[in-house]
Amino acid sequence: MIWSKEETLSREEIEAIQLERLKETVARVYERVAPYRKKMDEAGVCPEDIKSLSDLSRLPFVTKQDLRDNYPFGLFAVPREELVRVHASSGTTGKPTVVGYTEGDLKTWTECVSRIACMGGATRKDYAQICFGYGMFTGALGLHYGLENIGATIIPSSTGNSQKQIMYMQDFETSLLVATPSYALRLAEVAGEMGVDPKRDLHIKIALVGSEMLTDAMRDEMHRVWGEDMLITSNYGMSELMGPGVSGECEYMDGMHINEDFFIPEIINPETGEVLPVGERGELVITCIKKEGLPLIRYRTKDITRLNYEKCRCGRTFCRMENLSGRSDDMLKIRGVNVFPSQIEEVVLGFSELGPHYEILLEREGYNDKLTVRVELLTSTDSFSVLEDITRRVREKLKTVLGLDAKVTLVSPNTLERFEGKAKRIRDLRGIK
Ligand SMILES: [Zn+2]
Repeated sequence: MIWSKEETLSREEIEAIQLERLKETVARVYERVAPYRKKMDEAGVCPEDIKSLSDLSRLPFVTKQDLRDNYPFGLFAVPREELVRVHASSGTTGKPTVVGYTEGDLKTWTECVSRIACMGGATRKDYAQICFGYGMFTGALGLHYGLENIGATIIPSSTGNSQKQIMYMQDFETSLLVATPSYALRLAEVAGEMGVDPKRDLHIKIALVGSEMLTDAMRDEMHRVWGEDMLITSNYGMSELMGPGVSGECEYMDGMHINEDFFIPEIINPETGEVLPVGERGELVITCIKKEGLPLIRYRTKDITRLNYEKCRCGRTFCRMENLSGRSDDMLKIRGVNVFPSQIEEVVLGFSELGPHYEILLEREGYNDKLTVRVELLTSTDSFSVLEDITRRVREKLKTVLGLDAKVTLVSPNTLERFEGKAKRIRDLRGIK
């Protein structure tokens, strides 16, 4: 089911709405938000310069640092008494970033999430268990109001108390799960420990997952434990932009539809800031064109993806962003090619002969970068032809995915370093003489 008629507008109609809302937003922030006015003055651009959508690229970027520098309310475009809610992101370093909503913003948010929930198959008949942490984090309340708006029954169980979560699922016949992919897998594990088989004893047929990258390998694993017929869609958002609801996958799971009447996406080269042609992979930049409280313009998300404007089989016309390939902070530059460790991981996990432990080694040979991927075999073998065959196939696959030739070294099981915290799989020796 398609929630709103806006989701099927023609490209011309979408662009007309975008241009009108962009002009209005730029004029408003220029008038009301001093840091924006300063940035625009420095860039030599004024609201009257925005005559077409391509003029968007003339505007300066906004980053998380700008939000921190203006903590807590410095970038807001309304007097603080007009806000009806504030949320904050957990700042792992320094001050958190604070976001605020007017009454109108909450309506927009609810609309965006209702659309995404419908795309993922939710209906008014669903019992939706929200296993995101309630609180300052936007995930839980975002999904909560969006799903409630379409008439679903909400079970606001939050995170933790996993055994109780399973009890609710069983007793209330929960049909829809909202969680991060990793918590969804953990819940299935806990169910197993309780003697509950998620496929046989529970009724969950839909999972709306977010706030973590959903790799294909992760989705396969979720299907294995929750059932092949579970519809698992990922959705995307971030507090700075609104919360969840920026984009979501439909049942065809071929990219996440961006709510383009509220957000304008651009893809830039993260190093130069230059806008890249459609279809190229780079950093996602989002401009909020229908927000009253905190209308961020050209916000650098640091997330790496690419856009697809082809019409989707579901009938929606909003463009789609590919599931994230990583963060620009993690990007490696090898022989001039941008490579994300997640791309290498995906290749490695795709071979049944290989375990999940690997190492990426970067060295310099003369003027050339040399990439070596060391991977552990799942089981030992002395057969030279078997080893040679795996090495060749991994190398070919890496070449297709990365566009780079890599040296592949297979190592015996249990030889690579293990990590208790965040794994350090990259050794970049190019700067060391
Ligand atoms: Zn679609």
